[in-house]
Amino acid sequence: MNSGDIIIIGAGAAGLTAAGVALKHGKRVLVLEMGDTVARKVMASGGGRCNITNAAVATDKYHGANPYFVRSAITKVPYTDILNWAYEHNIDLYEKTPGRYFCTNGAQSVVNAMMSDARDAKIYTNQNVQHVDKIDNIFYVKTQDATYTAPAVIVATGGTSFATLGVSDVGWKIAKHFGHKIIPVRPALGAMNIKNAPAELAGIALPVQISVGRNKINDDMLFTHHGIGGPAAYRASVFDIDDGISIDLMPNKNAMEILKNAKQQSGRKNVANVLGEYMPMRVAKWIAGDDTRNIADIKDSEIAIIADRIHKWRICADDIKMHGMSAAEVVRGGVCVDEISSKTMESKLCDGLFFAGEVMDVAGDLGGFNLHWAWASGRVAGMNA
Ligand SMILES: Cc1cc2nc3c(=O)[nH]c(=O)nc-3n(C[C@H](O)[C@H](O)[C@H](O)COP(=O)(O)OP(=O)(O)OC[C@H]3O[C@@H](n4cnc5c(N)ncnc54)[C@H](O)[C@@H]3O)c2cc1C
Repeated sequence: MNSGDIIIIGAGAAGLTAAGVALKHGKRVLVLEMGDTVARKVMASGGGRCNITNAAVATDKYHGANPYFVRSAITKVPYTDILNWAYEHNIDLYEKTPGRYFCTNGAQSVVNAMMSDARDAKIYTNQNVQHVDKIDNIFYVKTQDATYTAPAVIVATGGTSFATLGVSDVGWKIAKHFGHKIIPVRPALGAMNIKNAPAELAGIALPVQISVGRNKINDDMLFTHHGIGGPAAYRASVFDIDDGISIDLMPNKNAMEILKNAKQQSGRKNVANVLGEYMPMRVAKWIAGDDTRNIADIKDSEIAIIADRIHKWRICADDIKMHGMSAAEVVRGGVCVDEISSKTMESKLCDGLFFAGEVMDVAGDLGGFNLHWAWASGRVAGMNA
C-alpha cells in the first residue's frame, strides 16, 4: 500500500497547483491521475495558448449557488500572483485583449512549470480513482488496481465537459459519499441550440449584444446549424437563463433611425439592402424575410417592428438548450460550496477532505477566470491540507 501525507486526486490545473504548494510545506504528496498524461485541459485551453488569468478577476466573474464563496481565495491569490508565478517560471505572456493573459509559447510552458513545482510528488498516472473511505482518520483511496492511504485528501477531479479529453464524475461521488450535496451539473461556456434557429445562416459571425437578465454581453456571435455559438453565446451560457435571452443584432446603432433615414434619402432600396450596409447581407435578408418592398413604401409603424426584431431578438428559455457537454469548456454545478470552508477548501463535514478547482459549484466567465479559480483554490487547498 502506498502512503503519504496528502493524496491529490486529479493531476489537472488545481491538483498540480495544490501539489506544488503542499510540497513547499514539506508534505509527502501522492497524485493519482486516471489519464496517461497530466493537465490535458490546460493543454487544450485557450486554443493551445492557455488563457492563464485575467486582470478583472473578481467575485462578479463567478457563478454558482453561492458566487461569494470565491472571494477569500481570489483575494489571497490575485491575478498578479499568477503573473509573478509565470515570470518566475519563464512563461512569456501577452495580453490578447487588455487584461486577458495568454502564453506566447503555448500551454505546454504552463504544464512544464506546474510539473516543475510538483517534481517531488509521486505522480501515478493511469490510476482511475473509484472510491474513497475514511477509517480511523486515515483515507483509503482505491483505484482499479491499488489502494493509497493518507490523513488528507484533495479532490481535484474537475468537471465532465469535453469528455474526449478524459473526464469522470468521481469527485462528485466521493463528495456525496461523505455527505456533501451536489448541485445539478450542466454544460456552460458552450454553444446554445435554439428551436427554429436560422440554419441557413450557419457560419456567419457578427458583433452582437446578448442580454441575460441584467447582464449584457458584447462580443462576436456565430450562427451555427442548431443555434448560436462564438464568444458571445459562450459567455451568455454561463448565466442562469431562466427568463430566456434577448439578442441585439446591431448593437450601438439605431436601426429605426437608419431605416427612416433611408426612407427619406434612398427610398427605392429595400430593407435588406439598407441593413446589408451594417451587417452581413445574409443576416439582413433573413431579417427582411419576404419583404422586398421599396423602403419608401413601408409605414413607420412597420419600420418600428423591423427595428425591434433587430435590437430585441427574444428567445424564451424553453426554446434554448445547451448544445451539450461535448464542446462546453466548463460545467455549472458540482459540489455545493456551503459545506466547504472558503478559507481552507476543507470539507465542513469531514476533516482532512479538501476540494480544489472545477469539481466545486464554481464556474467562471470566459477569459481565464476558470483557470484562475483552479490556481487559487488549488493553492489554498494545498496550503491547508
Ligand atoms: C477546450 C477548453 C478550453 C479551455 N480554455 C480555458 C482557458 O483558456 N482559460 C481558462 O481559464 N479556462 C479554460 N478552460 C477551463 C479550464 O481548463 C478548467 O476550468 C480547468 O482546467 C479546471 O481545472 P481542474 O484542475 O479543476 O480540472 P481539470 O484540469 O479538468 O483536471 C482534473 C483532472 O482530474 C483527473 N481525474 C478525473 N477523474 C479522475 C479519477 N477518477 N481518477 C483519477 N484522476 C481523475 C482528470 O483526468 C484531470 O486530469 C478550458 C476548458 C476546455 C475544455
